[in-house]
Amino acid sequence: MPLVVVVSAMGKTTNLLEKLVPGATEASETTSLRQQLEEYHRNIASALMPDNMDVQHKIGNLLSSLDHLCSTLPPDTEHYNYNYDQVVSHGELLSTTIIAEYINSLGINTLWLDARQIIKTDSHYREGRVDWPATQEAIDTLSIDSMPFRVILTQGFIGGTANGQTTTLGREGSDYSAAILAHCLNAENMTIWKDVPGFLNADPKFFADTVKISQIPYNEAIELAYYGASVIHPKTVKPIQNKSIPLYIRSFITPDAEGSSIGDYKAIVPETPLYIFKNNQILLSILPRDYSFIAEDNLQVIFGLLNELGIRVNLMQNSALSFSICVDNNPQRIGVLVDRLKSMFRVRYNENLQLVTIRYYTQEVIDSIVAGRPILLEQRSRTTEQIIVPCK
Ligand code: ASP
Ligand code: MG
Repeated sequence: MPLVVVVSAMGKTTNLLEKLVPGATEASETTSLRQQLEEYHRNIASALMPDNMDVQHKIGNLLSSLDHLCSTLPPDTEHYNYNYDQVVSHGELLSTTIIAEYINSLGINTLWLDARQIIKTDSHYREGRVDWPATQEAIDTLSIDSMPFRVILTQGFIGGTANGQTTTLGREGSDYSAAILAHCLNAENMTIWKDVPGFLNADPKFFADTVKISQIPYNEAIELAYYGASVIHPKTVKPIQNKSIPLYIRSFITPDAEGSSIGDYKAIVPETPLYIFKNNQILLSILPRDYSFIAEDNLQVIFGLLNELGIRVNLMQNSALSFSICVDNNPQRIGVLVDRLKSMFRVRYNENLQLVTIRYYTQEVIDSIVAGRPILLEQRSRTTEQIIVPCK
């Protein structure tokens, strides 16, 4: 069976492409962004393969298709999600084109495979939902396992609808793409290559003394991704767990080091507190105008709105007279939410908060994280402590 490699866009390309979606940026700025995108990819390709004109030609073709889209797609909000997927997917098309050429130039027989042919989704643009039977069928039809290549290289993050439109699976979705392929191919295992040594007990950007967790049970990994552990996309574990495929997280900086392994384990090893920080949180307290109880009918209205606006609740709590939710502060969506809620309820909110989740907490650990800050809300279960505090 060939090695299937799933590649994301290079560096900050996805962020840059988001700015090139029609209507996203002032026309005066797009020229320089477009130029940056071209130089960045052409330079990488020529550093890797100085004499390869073919790859430069392929990059040119992809950039022309991008330019064509940017100048012809209607720049209105109604088409925004569709336009986004058509434009932003070019990051992965460019990266995989360059890398496939490079691996082939090393004498490793590699096939560049268009993920839009195999990862089949509905037409929910920017958050494509996988059509599992269609995906399985597309993969089976290609007989990837018996293809005469050492490497099959494809794009993460992107998929295609039944009638051939490009979709994306949600930001940071490349791991999920790999998990879908691993599931459908009954892979022996899957490895996510990262710039960190494995699954750490906290994000090293926020925490000085991190501990690497070497074994993580599947359900623990799902919980941690749900709480916001950024090393793994929340959707990645389920397709892997369903087929008991071992999932490894390893570092491309130290490729010989062992990394972390997610599988059928009983508990994390080593046992240590795990920390997940979510900054830029907002806490909304929703109170009935007439001091009546918050009950099922009110909750139904509130959840209906959250669902309609696509707002995910990170933590919730209710008392007799108020219902509180902690959500990411996405100004556009939250603005609409607050306006709509205010037509029915009294709404109070606190911004600039941090939601800290600590699994396997001790009181000492909680105290050191709170560091004297006032706690706006606290929830504790046997294994997990969640607190909302002002950002430091
Ligand atoms: N390139 C996409 C993103 O930046 C997907 C990924 O990185 O996993 O969101
Ligand atoms: Mg990326």
